[in-house]
Amino acid sequence: MHSLDFTAAPSSDDTAGSDAPLTFDVIIAGCGPTGAMLAAELRLHDVRVLVLEKETEPASFVRIVGLHIRSIELMAMRGLLERILERGRRRPAGAYFAAIDKPAPEGLDSAYAYLLGIPQPVIVRLLEEHAIDLGAQVRHGCAVVGVEQDDDGVTVELAGGERLRSRYLVGCDGGRSTVRKLLGVAFPGEPSRNETLMGEMEAAAPREEIAAKMTELRETDRRFSLTPAGVGVYRVVVPAPGVSDRTAPPTLEDFRRQLRIVAGTDFGVHSPRWLSRFGDATRVAERYRVGRVLLAGDAAHVHPPIGGQGLNLGVQDAVNLGWKLAAQVRGWAPETLLDTYHAERHPVAEDVLDNTRAQMELLSTGAGPRAVRRLLTELMDFEEVNRHLIEKISAIGIRYDFGDGPDLLGRRMPDLDLKQGHLYGLLHRGRGLLLDRTERLTVGGWSDRVDHLADPTAALDAPCVLLRPDGHVAWLGDDQRDLDDHLSRWFGSPTD
Ligand SMILES: Cc1cc2nc3c(=O)[nH]c(=O)nc-3n(C[C@H](O)[C@H](O)[C@H](O)COP(=O)(O)OP(=O)(O)OC[C@H]3O[C@@H](n4cnc5c(N)ncnc54)[C@H](O)[C@@H]3O)c2cc1C
Repeated sequence: MHSLDFTAAPSSDDTAGSDAPLTFDVIIAGCGPTGAMLAAELRLHDVRVLVLEKETEPASFVRIVGLHIRSIELMAMRGLLERILERGRRRPAGAYFAAIDKPAPEGLDSAYAYLLGIPQPVIVRLLEEHAIDLGAQVRHGCAVVGVEQDDDGVTVELAGGERLRSRYLVGCDGGRSTVRKLLGVAFPGEPSRNETLMGEMEAAAPREEIAAKMTELRETDRRFSLTPAGVGVYRVVVPAPGVSDRTAPPTLEDFRRQLRIVAGTDFGVHSPRWLSRFGDATRVAERYRVGRVLLAGDAAHVHPPIGGQGLNLGVQDAVNLGWKLAAQVRGWAPETLLDTYHAERHPVAEDVLDNTRAQMELLSTGAGPRAVRRLLTELMDFEEVNRHLIEKISAIGIRYDFGDGPDLLGRRMPDLDLKQGHLYGLLHRGRGLLLDRTERLTVGGWSDRVDHLADPTAALDAPCVLLRPDGHVAWLGDDQRDLDDHLSRWFGSPTD
């Protein structure tokens, strides 16, 4: 069973076919940041979740990732931020677009206008612990190798032959996603053209010699970096053109050779802690959903790491998808709700792919791209330009298309200071929320899914605002009938 067959009739020789009990509501393939976040989001709604992770140990490479403003907001919305802040480092929010060194403009519309640097294995562990605390099951050492779906559910086959059954499956299994391949979903875009080696190792050369060489080469079009990462230890990043076998892990000798080519010396690097390689493939899955199987995170989109957006994008996919899939499982989802996941998130990924393409061009060393970079650097002195770019990278500028309406419709609501406390403190449970300044509206038969807060604050631009569980504005107004229509649109039929 290695292919995906979406037919009404279950296969007769499938012992774990549609007659088998649906032990789980949702199986998630992959416990990276996307899979762990999605598991936690589903648990907020009591969905029975199993996460299958093929690795037995956490990743050995310690890539420092940056959480941008929207992801930091999401962590605050789910009550996770304090735990993450303890393990991360706050940095200024600016200078991330193509590494152009401009500070962020004043007055960004967020209470969390900074970047949070944190080692990826740490954030993954925190998110996994959070999901487990909420009741998710996580099994390590379980690689998904086969998927079949029928009218009632999905059968997932593991590498050892075990078969499990659930109502839905989400592939959060990274850029080389097995689930996406089994689905046969096209992954159009550009292959990797530039390979880069990254690792942590000791260097025999004195620190001053390394710094002098980096300063000397900064004037040329040759690029590499050795950043101190402990006593005598450096994080080494060096281009590796011509590396063809991306499946084989790089060796210390690869690093030495590339450093000699680029810097003229290998700085006596030795005793590696970890070695890795990444490319700049840029692709997005044609469909995020095929029947009962969905894709999220790197499984749905890959792009170069410039601007540090991949993990952010995946975590935001998870928060967009979680409550919709939970609604589907729990039976209150309006018919088209689950499909809004693709409709909303695919364009966001396309936009990120485009901005990384632009950033890669701006980092090229030819005379033309350098001239464009100088021009953009000048343009970023205009506050509007700088603001536009930072809102793009940090994802606070996203506006989903919910139809015509005021500018706030479809945007995320910043963390407001309410009479009753901080808005995000009221969103920890992942429910909808009506902020009602009129004090005469009601969420009626939707009160099992949507909270109602009367007289919240004077700082709202509208009499009432309906928020979805992901914090996006679903409706603004003051008319009960109009509100009921929008409650139905997002939260299904009312209960009696
Ligand atoms: C050098 C570098 C720097 C980066 N810096 C940043 C940054 O600053 N900010 C940022 O937002 N992003 C950054 N990224 C991107 C970020 O690391 C990825 O986008 C992120 O890891 C994607 O998360 P994911 O959970 O979707 O996929 P992954 O992290 O790839 O996780 C997928 C998981 O699925 C598991 N898996 C795979 N196949 C199977 C299977 N068949 N069955 C079960 N499990 C499976 C894997 O073992 C893995 O644990 C960077 C990337 C690189 C290379």
